Amino acid sequence: MENNTHLRGRFAPSPSGRMHLGNVYSAIISYLSVKSRGGEWVVRIEDLDRQRCKPENAALLLSDLDWLGLSSDAPIIYQSKRDDIYAEALSKLAARGLTYGCFCRRADILSAQAPHESDGRVVYSGKCKNLSSSELLALSKVRQPATRVVVPNADIAFTDGHYGKQCINLAHHCGDFIVRRADGNFAYQLSVVVDDAAQGITEVVRGRDLLTSTHQQIFLYQQLELQVPQFWHLPLLVSDSGVRLAKRDKVPDMSALRQMFSPEQIIGKVMFLAHQQPSDLPMTLSEAVGIFSWNNVPMNDIALSL
Ligand code: GLU
Repeated sequence: MENNTHLRGRFAPSPSGRMHLGNVYSAIISYLSVKSRGGEWVVRIEDLDRQRCKPENAALLLSDLDWLGLSSDAPIIYQSKRDDIYAEALSKLAARGLTYGCFCRRADILSAQAPHESDGRVVYSGKCKNLSSSELLALSKVRQPATRVVVPNADIAFTDGHYGKQCINLAHHCGDFIVRRADGNFAYQLSVVVDDAAQGITEVVRGRDLLTSTHQQIFLYQQLELQVPQFWHLPLLVSDSGVRLAKRDKVPDMSALRQMFSPEQIIGKVMFLAHQQPSDLPMTLSEAVGIFSWNNVPMNDIALSL
């Protein structure tokens, strides 16, 4: 196959624990999506949350990807080392008058969580946007503010490669959202945009739990004058009861999977789950690259019997 170096996909895991089958499925499909069209694939470690993301987990994650044969076509970057770059993007937003400090505690707590719909979405009221200077002074003596970006009351639309046209009004969906947490950590929504642009990512493949985060990210791409990639969201792997697989569930992780199966067996299972073959016959990564097609990926979430 011809090389197509202007196509570049990525896998951007948060090393908050060992990968499970759901993570491996996202990694493999993001790889096949871009490799089946001759592009490059890179890995980025999203370890901004220093409490949850441990270096030893990142090392295991990379060894698991390596074992599967998934190797990054560019040096791996770690978000925990890139605060200066995120600070620069934040100053750009601030220079445009798009940011303000927010002292609301509940908001800080929610923003610290993984950005998944099941966590319960709240629409921020904009309370801190209009604080008077005396209120600001009083509050800043008590605590550090988070930083929010002001969203427009207008639709933001994009066409997902798999799920088609998506349209959300951010003012109604989430309100002004956090780009830097009160603890100083930059928020996922900002860092993911800055890094996908910095790494020249042309396509983002990830679980559809992040489908509605995409509008916030597109808004940031626009404000930072960065090139928006093509987004492809994947149906989630769910348990029998329809709940998204999470690290806290009793899903076998890579330590167990590596003892039970070969890389080819896992690739075969993922290809079966993603409707790329009629059974879970083992296959090599290059065989999978040869047959992968988005047309066969289902729309509905995929139930696993655990
Ligand atoms: N780091 C995020 C996660 O592991 C994924 C980010 C993304 O793919 O945009 O949930």
